[in-house]
Amino acid sequence: MKIKHSLVVPCYNEEGNVEKFLVETQKAMSSYTDDYEIIFVNDGSSDKTPSVLRKLFNERKDVNIKVINFSRNFGKEAAMYAGFTQAVGEYVTVIDADLQQDPVYAVQMARLLDENPDCDMVAAYQRERKEGKAVSKLKRVFYKFIDRFSDADFISDASDFRTMRQSVVKTIIALPEYHRFSKGIFSWVGYNTMTI
Ligand code: UDP
Ligand code: MG
Repeated sequence: MKIKHSLVVPCYNEEGNVEKFLVETQKAMSSYTDDYEIIFVNDGSSDKTPSVLRKLFNERKDVNIKVINFSRNFGKEAAMYAGFTQAVGEYVTVIDADLQQDPVYAVQMARLLDENPDCDMVAAYQRERKEGKAVSKLKRVFYKFIDRFSDADFISDASDFRTMRQSVVKTIIALPEYHRFSKGIFSWVGYNTMTI
């Protein structure tokens, strides 16, 4: 079944956030389309995330939810990958469960793809992060360093938060990488990317 938009949501110990995330996402998406799915990937949480997700899956018939449960914690990269393999949307967004990334921007990204047929991917850059100056500086140095030595382009404030056409997702899941570094892969696969 083809649908308009899939949201892939990696979840590790997000028992206090997933329901709020669902409410905010429904609110944001209602201005755009009903034709969407939310794929929660429970990455081996040790809190009540799995039972909260099961409850939402069983009770919320007004929204199309998929839940993937990992047998242990494999990390966000694995969670994103699993979500991509199940996402059937024409557009696919990766977004965190903790609402540090506002679902309103997922709609903005989708609209940009609607309006720009030549654009394949819309990525969000964070202007400011709630973290210490030393951490920010360290990250900037890290990305500058790998940017110099790698084929892919890296920009230090890039995040995983982005919306892609299904063709990009197909390319990403076709890569045989085992230990994934998505920020690199998103850039390495090419395609026309816009940023917000
Ligand atoms: N996450 C995950 N597996 C992990 C760690 C994190 O699926 O092992 C999820 C987490 O639930 C969240 C997203 O990945 O939805 C980003 O994680 P976090 O908020 O800890 O990272 P940060 O805000 O520092 O980027
Ligand atoms: Mg976070």
